[in-house]
Amino acid sequence: MTANALNNTLERGRFGIIAGPCTVESREMILETARGVADGGAVMLRGGAYKPRTSPHSFQGLGVEGLRLLQEAKEETGLPIVTELLDVRDTEHVAEVADVIQIGARNMQNYALLTEAGRTGLPILLKRGLSATLEELLSAAEYVLKEDNPNVILCERGIRTFEGAYRFTLDLMAVPALKGMTDLPVIVDPSHAAGRRDWVLSLSLAAAAAGADGIIVEVHPEPETALCDGAQSLALESFAAYADQVRRVAEIAGRDVSVAL
Ligand code: PEP
Ligand code: MN
Repeated sequence: MTANALNNTLERGRFGIIAGPCTVESREMILETARGVADGGAVMLRGGAYKPRTSPHSFQGLGVEGLRLLQEAKEETGLPIVTELLDVRDTEHVAEVADVIQIGARNMQNYALLTEAGRTGLPILLKRGLSATLEELLSAAEYVLKEDNPNVILCERGIRTFEGAYRFTLDLMAVPALKGMTDLPVIVDPSHAAGRRDWVLSLSLAAAAAGADGIIVEVHPEPETALCDGAQSLALESFAAYADQVRRVAEIAGRDVSVAL
């Protein structure tokens, strides 16, 4: 993604929604999702080709084939791609397709990975670690910045707390707090925090109201059959209405809203 395109989407003052499946499962599903989220005004398509799974027996992603399918989805819809870099050995392949490289929560403090990702010159979407403080998140971002790469997008995705009634606690205070600590854009991932789709809308509205620069949300054409994170994925058919509602709150919070580039 060019610096200009990034400015058009997630710069301060504008608000954009990044949407797509947890993982690329097949050509059909990623193309269908890409078309649907583009129609709903998403500014970027998300989708993992390499997945950090808690269990090594869970689906690990399609790898290079997944990247190829993301490229095809980008060519068809024009949506820039956000995809995760899990391992330094895949940097070259991921950087060929990604417009924004995602560093997952479990890798927030993988300093070798942050350095290599930073060296690609691509914008880095850095997710907050499961038990990382905001200071630690900003220190992790420094590893990218020190490679002369100023384009880091910080992402609050829920942290571990003593509360057992939900998967993670979405720390929305991180949004205003980070804005007082840095000029980097701050986005929110309501999907991984909640772990369930029926909470995704309210968390997204709250994130928009709290002043987030954007949302990254999981969307799937058939969540019941998803290979990964189906329970938290919005159904593709509901995406456009969801996105409209979230953008309306962002506007009330004083933001210009971005729709597809
Ligand atoms: C994801 O975005 O699919 C993901 C695995 O996120 P996190 O690193 O926040 O758990
Ligand atoms: Mn996921």
